[in-house]
Amino acid sequence: MRLLSFATPDGPRPALLEGDEVLPLRAGSLRDVVGGAPVVPTGRRIPLDEVEIAAPFRPGKLIGIGLNYRDHAAETGKDVPEVPLLFAKLPTAVTAPAGPVVLPAYTAAADFEGELAVVIGREARGVPAARALRHVFGYAVMNDVSARDRQRDEPQWVRAKGADTFAPWGPWITTADEVADPQALSIRTWVSGELMQDGTTADMVFPVAELIAFISASFTLEPGDVITTGTPAGVGQARTPPRFLRDGDVVRVEIDGLGAIEHPVVGS
Ligand code: MG
Repeated sequence: MRLLSFATPDGPRPALLEGDEVLPLRAGSLRDVVGGAPVVPTGRRIPLDEVEIAAPFRPGKLIGIGLNYRDHAAETGKDVPEVPLLFAKLPTAVTAPAGPVVLPAYTAAADFEGELAVVIGREARGVPAARALRHVFGYAVMNDVSARDRQRDEPQWVRAKGADTFAPWGPWITTADEVADPQALSIRTWVSGELMQDGTTADMVFPVAELIAFISASFTLEPGDVITTGTPAGVGQARTPPRFLRDGDVVRVEIDGLGAIEHPVVGS
């Protein structure tokens, strides 16, 4: 299934995507569905191009993984971590897949990171990697927008990763049963039409199952938590000269089988 949230005057509503049609659901929110609410359509059908797709939902926890692709670690001049490098993005960073991403005044070096987002559907605490994928509800696309200057000069990354609009995601959640292997997905990022990242989730240092095992040994993952799993090489900071995001840019991130998110960047 592909499940999305779409904007209404009364706030976002959950829906099932069937071909080019959106079937609104009776559930209160897509997060409720992720938590186990049944997928029951109301009977309405709306053409996809007539709805405004919202962020799937605001996660309880949004956990980021740093340096999880060897080629990205190499381009930043860092060693590959020996254990997953966790950080938190703030739930208020979440925004619609169509954005916009609004650059805060405190950065002059905002960067893009196309990533596979993992949506937790079953509570996970101390789960071994061999059983970890059973706790995944589905997958989506995220841009882990990052303020490189603040990431460099502040030891905690809360501002670097947590600004409002720094986590556009969607366009929908594809349920785990439709993703045969989360470690075999091509992922590409364009900025204003130029291909910047062209990677595969096969290159993750710590695959999704190991991430869930590691995180759930540290703290509980709950339904509606989201892990954004790191980015492949090609980020703006690693380019010569660096290519940071600027007012008027359009970022597109696409993952095979999961769709694409595309959003403008607006200067502060
Ligand atoms: Mg990242």
